[in-house]
Amino acid sequence: MILIETVEKLKEVLFRIKSNGKTIGLVPTMGALHDGHISLIKKAKSENQVVVLSIFVNPLQFNNPNDLEKYPRDLEKDLLLIEGFTDIVFAPSESEIYPTTPEEKYDFGELDKILEGASRPGHFNGVATIVKRLFDYIQPDRAYFGEKDFQQLAIIRELVKQTKDDITIVACPVVRESNGLAMSSRCQQLSFAKRNIASKVHTIINKAKELGVPHAKKISEHVLAEIKKLEPITLDYFVIVDEATLQPVDSLDDAKNVVALVAYIIGDVRLIDMIRFK
Ligand code: AMP
Repeated sequence: MILIETVEKLKEVLFRIKSNGKTIGLVPTMGALHDGHISLIKKAKSENQVVVLSIFVNPLQFNNPNDLEKYPRDLEKDLLLIEGFTDIVFAPSESEIYPTTPEEKYDFGELDKILEGASRPGHFNGVATIVKRLFDYIQPDRAYFGEKDFQQLAIIRELVKQTKDDITIVACPVVRESNGLAMSSRCQQLSFAKRNIASKVHTIINKAKELGVPHAKKISEHVLAEIKKLEPITLDYFVIVDEATLQPVDSLDDAKNVVALVAYIIGDVRLIDMIRFK
């Protein structure tokens, strides 16, 4: 495993690898790695000859300065965790990625205005900016993204469509703690007790799904009422949407591929999750 910190060195190493006809899988992350990230790396390793893992806490995608400041960072620990799984770790500084003020402006139509986009203005423009720069530097054959960040995945698919980059986007399932809580770097900021309470959101949604009620409105009412009882959680949104459009569905019987998306705040940590309904 080699650690690379500059774009120049990265391009030089990748040029040699590509000259040998090897395929490259990219796993973009913000570090504070956990088993969710490892699952993406393993998937990438199974489908490519070389895996590049990027670790970069991208300031552009944080609309809340407090969130950016508190975001966990521990490169040494990350490197220990992924030793043996990854070929190249690209961990650049902020000035390496943004030597001048970035000015990219993306238009994803309604896709970046709803849900996370509505709660976190500018977030997806920041995500698209860093991902596109990584794609340009690395030019991977495949790039791996988690379904936990479901709207992000949709944005990346749209980005690739718009830029016509020849990169296959691979979606990876949500990896959970044993209590059902979707693993997240931000969970490191929560006490054991708070993580336990947070896990109940998933339990509630999963139980609501198993009731087999076809009306999205009824399911939502039930979930909202149950989450309201969870102290100290504040719900941002809970929606039942069509997987392709992220638009709300009325009847689960009439819809094809349906997912529930949720965002909530516990303490001052904001968590999101995705639960597949159909
Ligand atoms: P992050 O470091 O949080 O930006 O995440 C980097 C990538 O890992 C993104 O594609 C996330 O969707 C994915 N990821 C994060 N947590 C999980 C998880 N619990 N299960 C699967 N993928 C995840």
